[in-house]
Amino acid sequence: MRHHFSSRAASAKRSTIRELLKLTEQPDIISFGGGLPAPETFPHEELAAIAQELLLKEPHNVLQYGTTEGSRTLRTEVAKWLGDQNIHVTLHDLLVTSASQQGLDLICKAFFDPGDVVFCGLPTYLGAVQAFSLFQITKIGVPLEDDGMDIDELESRIVAARREGKRMKGIYVIPDFQNPSGITLSLEKRQRLLEVARAYDLLIFEDNPYGHLRFSGEPIPSIFSMDDEGRTIMLLTFSKVLAAGLRLAVMVARGDLMDVLVRVKQPTDLCTSKFTQMIAARFMQRHGLDRHLAEIRPIYRAKKEAMVAALEKYMPNEEGLRWTNPDGGLFVWVWLPEGVDAEEMLPRAIAHKVAYVPGASSYVDGGGHNTMRLAFSLCALEQIDEGIRRLAEVVTETIASLKAGARS
Ligand code: PMP
Repeated sequence: MRHHFSSRAASAKRSTIRELLKLTEQPDIISFGGGLPAPETFPHEELAAIAQELLLKEPHNVLQYGTTEGSRTLRTEVAKWLGDQNIHVTLHDLLVTSASQQGLDLICKAFFDPGDVVFCGLPTYLGAVQAFSLFQITKIGVPLEDDGMDIDELESRIVAARREGKRMKGIYVIPDFQNPSGITLSLEKRQRLLEVARAYDLLIFEDNPYGHLRFSGEPIPSIFSMDDEGRTIMLLTFSKVLAAGLRLAVMVARGDLMDVLVRVKQPTDLCTSKFTQMIAARFMQRHGLDRHLAEIRPIYRAKKEAMVAALEKYMPNEEGLRWTNPDGGLFVWVWLPEGVDAEEMLPRAIAHKVAYVPGASSYVDGGGHNTMRLAFSLCALEQIDEGIRRLAEVVTETIASLKAGARS
């Protein structure tokens, strides 16, 4: 029956990495693979009490269809919360989505025809790459530096794409503690990014699931808040700050950008679950997201510190072997010495009962073979040292066998 598939669906692939990571669900494997939030951060008792109360007291409301834009109660809470962060929006600037992955899908639908160009980081978020691919969008990668996307490179790639007559639509950027690298875009580069977007009339898709998980250093203003032209669409999600299972996020955009997003969401799902929206809204009213965030950030900080300390303790001293040390988020990124292929190394790691995500799947240019992503979020704190000890053994063995191969 394959001949009935749309050309778009026929080209959609399952992520080989996600398939591989299923292997790592065995209990004796220490997995730094899945980029999942720490389950101990979910305020399940508070959510249970709210859910029960909503079902008993407001069933006619929470079990009903809602508007496509999303619950007014939730949007009011989000607008207040953003206002406290100096991001001033009205309810019309907010669209509730079934988590940010839907936001990415809506961006593809609203702004891209097949062959249109999006610029993204090298590396970038795999789920965004999958969405762009499904919509037959041309992805042009731009290398990341320690302070985020190389803006000079971005500009030269824009100029080259224009020369080739490509239709460019926007730049996809994850500004804080990027997935997968943990890298943060500096303030200066945020300003330059806006200037470049203005000069070439591009949109900016600012996907920021991790900014509120900053556990050290000073917050940097969002690109959306610095944009006085309204060409930035910001995606915020409840997945990492409350609970991923609620599947709830908010898109922030102005004017006709918001209008088209609402129009493409309507046939996608009519509306996001009113029940989960009201759970999040009541949580914000009753407990406050900031208070909750203040409680969960130390959990992530402790895990990140344990991971970086273990990397320093166990990893061999080899040229080219280095890692990021982020001030927030869920991920540490490792560059292995040239010639080490993290995907080829994975079966050896699984045999040593440790797992990670090879970085190459996050590169749209076929590069990144010597990189890997380590999520410090999901493991229990006590497992991190042992997992990194195992991983360092695997890395040491792999480098040794490469050197032996080169000699023979
Ligand atoms: N964007 C980025 C950068 C992510 O890392 C993720 C989740 N890992 C998402 C979007 C999707 O998150 P959700 O759909 O849970 O909001």
